Amino acid sequence: MKRKAGNVIRPKNTNDEKDISFIKGGRSFYMTLILCLIIFFAAIALLIAAFNRLISRHDQKLSGEICTLMSEKMNSSIEFMTETTHGMASVLSAQAFNSPKDIYNVLKGNTKADYLSVGFIDAAMHIYATPEEMEEFEKWELLETAKVAHPVSMSAPYRSSVFGQPVITLFSDFQYGNNQRGYMFTTYLLKDLQEVAVTESLGDKIEIWLMDANSANTIQCVGADEHATGSWTNAYLTMQNVSRKDVNVYEDWLKRVRNLEDNIGTSYSTSETFYSQYCSKISSLPGWYVVVRIPGDALSATMTAFRTYIFLFLAVLLVVVIVLIGNMYRLSKRDNEMLKSLSIHDPLTGAFNRRAFDLAAEKLLFRGKNSGRSCALIFFDIDYFKQVNDQFGHDAGDQLLIAFCDALRKNFSDTGIIARFGGDEFVVLTEMENIRAIASKLDQTTEDVHAIDLNDDKHEGRGFMISFSAGAANFPDDSADLSGLKKCADAALYETKEKGRNGYLWYSEIGSSAPPKKKVVKKIIRKKIIKKTVKTQD
Ligand code: GH3
Ligand code: MG
Repeated sequence: MKRKAGNVIRPKNTNDEKDISFIKGGRSFYMTLILCLIIFFAAIALLIAAFNRLISRHDQKLSGEICTLMSEKMNSSIEFMTETTHGMASVLSAQAFNSPKDIYNVLKGNTKADYLSVGFIDAAMHIYATPEEMEEFEKWELLETAKVAHPVSMSAPYRSSVFGQPVITLFSDFQYGNNQRGYMFTTYLLKDLQEVAVTESLGDKIEIWLMDANSANTIQCVGADEHATGSWTNAYLTMQNVSRKDVNVYEDWLKRVRNLEDNIGTSYSTSETFYSQYCSKISSLPGWYVVVRIPGDALSATMTAFRTYIFLFLAVLLVVVIVLIGNMYRLSKRDNEMLKSLSIHDPLTGAFNRRAFDLAAEKLLFRGKNSGRSCALIFFDIDYFKQVNDQFGHDAGDQLLIAFCDALRKNFSDTGIIARFGGDEFVVLTEMENIRAIASKLDQTTEDVHAIDLNDDKHEGRGFMISFSAGAANFPDDSADLSGLKKCADAALYETKEKGRNGYLWYSEIGSSAPPKKKVVKKIIRKKIIKKTVKTQD
């Protein structure tokens, strides 16, 4: 024997693969993985939605706070401007000037004041001002505002062409000369808005407008683009940049502003960014609002970064989980394969065990029944196997079983299935073209088994010839079902043993006087010691 002893799980051959197809593999892993991924992505989607809602709420709250602050600042600074202008007019009244020129010179002489420009309009509505200021009067129809100053009136915010900044002009009436009524005016920069914006940490991103609720016209006071400061636009024009999904929200906001509601917030996206926008009334400038708009990335940089870190963490977690699941699957698949192999194969020879044989055999017979093909079921039993164990040891017996199974595999695995039923008993179920083809395979098996050499260095097994007895049954002639076939084949095997072993008989030959068929092999030298033992047994 050239093989080493030991229990080895033999690799399945391709025919085994073909015949174990009745044992179904599980696909639960993929289902579990898909389910896990669906749950994971659904959770991520929910998380994103919750985050976005939180960020949007936070942004609106912040822009609302900034906006309220702005409108308070605007109110107090307009009140200050109004009081200053009114105070100056009262002083002028008290001084009882006669000449409008004198009044203008006095006004111009005050260089320490906060206003950008100052001037006077006499009773004949003649304007005392610089040529540039005169142009502004014409352009913004400021005389109309002056006329309603009892005692103070205020222009709408406009862009000063001298300073390129948003300004307002205030008028206050007073008495001069012979009970004549004149108006002084002061023009102020709306710089408080800029100052507030700059003191905010979001100074470079924040946008502040003043908006006329009636016309929806807006004048930009603060913005990322400094050149746009003082420029006019209209809230309906801005709406054209709003993404389609948010147009309704924006329009609703605008409607509420035009209905003079106070403190109204909204958020919307344009093609470039996401904005939070808020407006508050300026009580000292009726019909006017402060509108603050802040891009989402400016407000929520920290939250957005936090969100990105969470997503990165989740992505890494997902990869780790997939790798772990994959690894577990690989290990469990390996274990399953091993278990499957152990549960259907005889661990020593790798042939099917009885249970697997019965399942595969039923399948083969069913196929045979449907196709009208014949099959042969053959029982094999090694002759005098006990004596191999006794003389050469159990390990040598094992190696003989392996070698015997190899011989069966060599001759029958292309057309049938092979199983070990226990001890030295094997069974083959094979498709059968005709009886001669099976006879030829059996002859070849006999030759191969006779050629098994038990020789090794320890034991003097040289010349020990192994033989087997076999009994065959024909499907469907002898029996049309598996258990019937087994009984027939077993009976034929029994008959072969009875008639001297080392040969085979068909079930149909039982009872005939013919000896079992055997192939004549030249090398029929059984060792004397074996013969002696046989005699003693008999
Ligand atoms: P016969 O010609 O009548 O078949 O005689 P035999 O000696 O072969 O008798 P039998 O078939 O009843 O002997 C089977 C023996 O096989 C009995 C048991 O000791 C031995 N055996 C069973 N399983 C194993 C095994 O896994 N390994 C080895 N080495 N021997 C085994
Ligand atoms: Mg035997």
